[in-house]
Amino acid sequence: MAIISKLAHVGTTIFTVMSKLAAECGAINLSQGFPDFPIDGRLSALVDAAMKAGHNQYAPMPGLPSLREAISDKIQRLYGFRYDPDTEVTVASGGTQAIFTAIGAVVHPGDEVIIVDPAYDCYSPTVELFGGKPVHVRLGIDMKFDADAVKAAITPKTRMLMINTPHNPAGTILRDADMKRIAGMLRGTDIILLSDEVYEHLVFDGEPHASAINYPELRDRAFVIFSFGKVFHTTGWKMGYAVAPKTLMSEFRKVHQFNVFSVNTPMQHALATYMNEPLSYEAVPSFYQAKRDRFSTGMVKSRFKLLPCEGSYFQTADYSEISLEDDMTFAQRVTREFGVATIPLSPFYKEPPSEQRLLRFCFAKQDATLDAAIEKLCRI
Ligand code: GLN
Repeated sequence: MAIISKLAHVGTTIFTVMSKLAAECGAINLSQGFPDFPIDGRLSALVDAAMKAGHNQYAPMPGLPSLREAISDKIQRLYGFRYDPDTEVTVASGGTQAIFTAIGAVVHPGDEVIIVDPAYDCYSPTVELFGGKPVHVRLGIDMKFDADAVKAAITPKTRMLMINTPHNPAGTILRDADMKRIAGMLRGTDIILLSDEVYEHLVFDGEPHASAINYPELRDRAFVIFSFGKVFHTTGWKMGYAVAPKTLMSEFRKVHQFNVFSVNTPMQHALATYMNEPLSYEAVPSFYQAKRDRFSTGMVKSRFKLLPCEGSYFQTADYSEISLEDDMTFAQRVTREFGVATIPLSPFYKEPPSEQRLLRFCFAKQDATLDAAIEKLCRI
């Protein structure tokens, strides 16, 4: 039977490839982004209590009202704007699913979507699945946002601009000036903004998180995507949420109801309670900043050259002093021969820069894991 692939050029996501290789080789896994430490016992106790209390059937389609209320409260506390929990907040099965749904809801065949490379690997295939045309531009020097490049890519066919702060895989952040430039270039257009802010709490060195929600001109045209997994160390729960003005959110829900319908109930109950305890996320920036610093200090003795890490739990590093191999080959060799799995950067590009030699390390790990990895990496 002949199958015409809708994604002929797409293979298996690099996160699956490298985590599998790490398991096969018994390597320390600094590739796929997930913590290797336990979650707060209070949070698991809340899930247990919710299950025992009988909250085991479908949740309402957009999410539990108490959780949507808690999300609106938290956003108001942090960003000073209140989304209507009834009409402007939807609980999703993780950030990736929320991104898929947002794109599916508003991108029509032939629409252009601007994607800034290196970009998280689900963006471009999702646009293509819905018949959209990804238009790839690049981050500029030192992986900083290049507003001129983005502006030059806007055409009358542009339906959406996708941004990501803190940035995966680059580890850089957008700042106030960047957000103002973005607001300026979108002014007077019908371009929808998709702002992927799943690492909102992982911003370091006292910098504020420049959320699209802080900018009325941006939030009025934006889907903003968040993740519980990154904040509460629960990536395996696959839970996140999207917020958007009512008109956009009602389109989002038309897709969500037939794609996910609703997200698991006991975890929603647990998170609704847990989110109202502000301490649950206040310690996250300093917790991860200490891990970033432990990793970067240890790596000083290595031959890797670390790029600035302003946010996320990813550190990128240049290995051109060690090898001229392409990044896929080098990352696989480091996993097999030196016992540390990482993520090469080329899968995050439509056309990877041929001269670039970068790997991404996830530092969301116990100190002992980081120390063991550093020791191995310093031998290369
Ligand atoms: N967001 C995680 C990362 O960047 C991976 C998530 C996934 O494997 N889909 O490593």
